[in-house]
Amino acid sequence: MNLEDIEMAKKARENAYVPYSNFKVGALLRCKNGKVFAGCNVENHGIQSICAERVAFTKAISEGEKEFESITVIGAKEDESPTSECLPCGYCRQFMSEFVDKDFKIYTVENENVTNEYTIKDLLPYSFSL
Ligand code: ZN
Repeated sequence: MNLEDIEMAKKARENAYVPYSNFKVGALLRCKNGKVFAGCNVENHGIQSICAERVAFTKAISEGEKEFESITVIGAKEDESPTSECLPCGYCRQFMSEFVDKDFKIYTVENENVTNEYTIKDLLPYSFSL
């Protein structure tokens, strides 16, 4: 776990656009080549909102990245600091599984600096595939 990733995920979280849920999430995706891509959740009044994890992935993929090492996710109500972990939703788990190895790491943060570590296989043991 890279502590710098937590700080960058926190900073990305500040940009979250969440007028409906008031729940801000930041994510920091680390590529195997060391490049990083941050994301935050972006809502609208329809059903097309996008999570921080998918923002980070689509930014990276649109820049040509294909090899991913880990993602750090941090989330909480708008004016609160994260006291419990924010796990990726089912949609994001399936989305991420398209692009990562089974040992891809997912780090969640609680109480500012306590981190939990999972692999995509832990969170999505029976993913859909063609
Ligand atoms: Zn999600």
